[in-house]
Amino acid sequence: MITSIGYAAKSAKAALEPFSFERREPGEHDVLITIDYCGVCHSDIHQARDEWGGGTFPMVPGHEIVGRVERVGTKVNKFKVGDKVGVGCMVDSCRHCQPCERSLEQYCENTASWTYNGMLQDKKNPTFGGYANNIVVNQDFVLRIPDNLDLAAAAPLLCAGITTYSPLRQWQIKPGQKVGIVGLGGLGHMAVKLAHAMGAHTVVLTHSPNKREDALRLGANEILISTDADAMLSHQGSFDFLLSTISAPYDINAYLNLLNLDGTMVFVGVPENPFTLQAFSMIGKRRRLAGSLIGGIAETQEMLDFCGKHNITADIEMINIDKINEAYERMLKSDVRYRFVIDMKSLKP
Ligand code: NAP
Ligand code: ZN
Ligand code: ZN
Repeated sequence: MITSIGYAAKSAKAALEPFSFERREPGEHDVLITIDYCGVCHSDIHQARDEWGGGTFPMVPGHEIVGRVERVGTKVNKFKVGDKVGVGCMVDSCRHCQPCERSLEQYCENTASWTYNGMLQDKKNPTFGGYANNIVVNQDFVLRIPDNLDLAAAAPLLCAGITTYSPLRQWQIKPGQKVGIVGLGGLGHMAVKLAHAMGAHTVVLTHSPNKREDALRLGANEILISTDADAMLSHQGSFDFLLSTISAPYDINAYLNLLNLDGTMVFVGVPENPFTLQAFSMIGKRRRLAGSLIGGIAETQEMLDFCGKHNITADIEMINIDKINEAYERMLKSDVRYRFVIDMKSLKP
């Protein structure tokens, strides 16, 4: 076994604290990765606090992992020692169900192995995430980070990047469309950069008026303050597409009313409570509402290559790992510009 050190929540809602644990020896197809940086996703908070239920503790969160290959198994042919690599929200899946065969491993019918708070495919051994010094992953779930991208700023691409790229691609966002990105946090700011790079007329919808300048700098054409009723009214029925990244409970009808005929709203944010949906928000303009979960492995590599080509990374605030609990509190106050990334050099044995 390999000894790992990291930070864990020992129980639901407990603060994160230093934790030592074991990972499997790398098998024939496995890669041992030394983790340099790990992004902090709002899903880490939801799960460490067991807001979605069914969490397994102790929990080592973290699924925006970047680092370097330290060791490879005898049958590994995609990576070599020293490669710059990443690991996102999954470390394995069944490989044989229909979604897996279509490289939609996130929708695996036999449950993907989530990077943490999940089970390996043996359905016996729990997974531990990237707030740690190393990780062992089957090479098929390891991603290649383009050389031109700063490694720390690329970490958030592994979840925030793919989670916003996938729906923008699925709904074929293109120049000339009016696209709204709802919530300017970790996911939202990546969505703005990606939608802008895809040529859409990009509008940021935020409940934080002080993010106006940032939104424009990140690539938004317009900004709409969601608490300004008149401004919201003036945009009614005008959007082709909306992507909501809001992490807290909100009135989804207020956003649906912004869509034009046949417009689509996709939510990726996962508030703790159910939505209340008014039928009239949907029927008048034949609107559509959909959800989306991260992206498959092939699409994640496609997104990374797209980001390499367009020189897109996250705007990050680097933290030492002992500041993780403070970072969570700041994220809950929408006070993050725009993704915390843990510098794993700060992790001490
Ligand atoms: P984040 O950085 O904390 O950003 C969330 C943003 O939501 C905030 O910055 C804020 O934007 C907005 N917001 C927060 N509270 C709000 C409120 N009460 N009313 C209106 N807006 C509010 O979080 P994140 O890491 O981007 O994650 C966002 C959500 O996506 C989380 O629920 C996370 O679990 C989920 N997620 C889903 C997937 C998936 O596959 N579907 C993947 C990753 C994450 P403004 O200040 O601009 O209003
Ligand atoms: Zn995430
Ligand atoms: Zn499967």
